[in-house]
Amino acid sequence: MTDSQSLYSLFEQYCLPVYRPRRIVLERGAGSRVFDTDGRDYVDFGAGIAVNALGHAHPALIEALVAQAGRLWHTSNVFVSEPPLRLVESLVGASRFAERAFLCNSGAEANEAAIKLARKRAAAQGRAPEHRVILTFRGSFHGRTLATVTATAQPKYHEGFEPLPPGFRYVDFNDLTAADEAMAAGDVCAVLVEPVQGEGGVMPADGAFLHGLRALCDQHGALLMFDEIQCGLGRTGHLFAWHGYGVTPDVVTLAKALGGGFPIGAMLVGAKAADVMQFGAHGTTFGGNPLAASVANAVLRELLSPALHANVQRQTQALRDGIASIDEELGLFADVRGRGLMIGAQLRQAHAGRAGDILDRCVEHGLLMLQAGPDVLRFVPALNIGDADIDEGLARLRAALGAYLG
Ligand SMILES: *Cc1c(COP(=O)(O)O)cnc(C)c1O
Repeated sequence: MTDSQSLYSLFEQYCLPVYRPRRIVLERGAGSRVFDTDGRDYVDFGAGIAVNALGHAHPALIEALVAQAGRLWHTSNVFVSEPPLRLVESLVGASRFAERAFLCNSGAEANEAAIKLARKRAAAQGRAPEHRVILTFRGSFHGRTLATVTATAQPKYHEGFEPLPPGFRYVDFNDLTAADEAMAAGDVCAVLVEPVQGEGGVMPADGAFLHGLRALCDQHGALLMFDEIQCGLGRTGHLFAWHGYGVTPDVVTLAKALGGGFPIGAMLVGAKAADVMQFGAHGTTFGGNPLAASVANAVLRELLSPALHANVQRQTQALRDGIASIDEELGLFADVRGRGLMIGAQLRQAHAGRAGDILDRCVEHGLLMLQAGPDVLRFVPALNIGDADIDEGLARLRAALGAYLG
């Protein structure tokens, strides 16, 4: 057995088999290239599921991490330190709607906080527990904790975990009439929605749908909560996806790209709900510790640069053009959709369920890709990916798809 195969066998022996990682062992990364323990290199079009927004081993992030590592790692939230204070200040300012922020460690925790906040607000308004329903959408993904997996309106994530917590209702994504009907009884206290669904197949919301949800929330006194854990922080070509839609939310959740690979999440809260959670209402031991916050501050500085924004526009076009020309040749895709550097290529019916097989071929050809469900190839590269890596990644994708087709 090679070293990498014996390492991989440790995964099979010891890890809870909830994942099915490709049979390689990754060792180091630089920009949008990753290297395995056998020395092979890969172009990274997946960025750790839209997390490594600045690629691997970005010098500014390393510098921030190393500098803070020699100062102060953790105080818990019984004390404050400068990095998380600067981070919430920047996030609130950049959001153009929020008044306060809560830092945590992950996306699920950010959504869990949002769900609790919506319930607490409804309770403070005197709504009975059965009038604190949270409306979410089919195809959504909001996390794996019991509450957030229940908010996730996909049965495959629920199976076997019943009893699920009550107070969630689901309707079809982009169906405003259904949302209207689901809210008619006046028992919905919040609507939780991804402006661009990620795991559900890279499905952008229609502008009219998000504007309509805003109006429905206003009409019923419900909070409009955007889960921007995947689509936020520059990925769509706007710092926040909703900036591109022109719809202002009441609550926003962030994670994934916020730490560029260091775990951190955040919930941003606007005027309507900024004073709902008071002393003792919620908390976390690790959330927003100085080490995580220092890295996130460095990430945010980079994400705010106009050059990065211009690169997202440029590479979005390059990736779109490249996917279109591959498809012209091979005719594999029924639809290519998304916003900015969050692109989904839906496989034609004849190739339904084969995204996983295609990802295997991609690895063999030196390309790290993601799927979004069994039928969609998902492209979420680093936002600072350069021309050469886009070109090389597309060439490898073309080769991998050729091999898949045999
Ligand atoms: C990844 C993701 C989550 C969950 O984040 P974790 O950090 O895995 O808990 C929630 N919502 C969306 C839209 C996501 O993409």
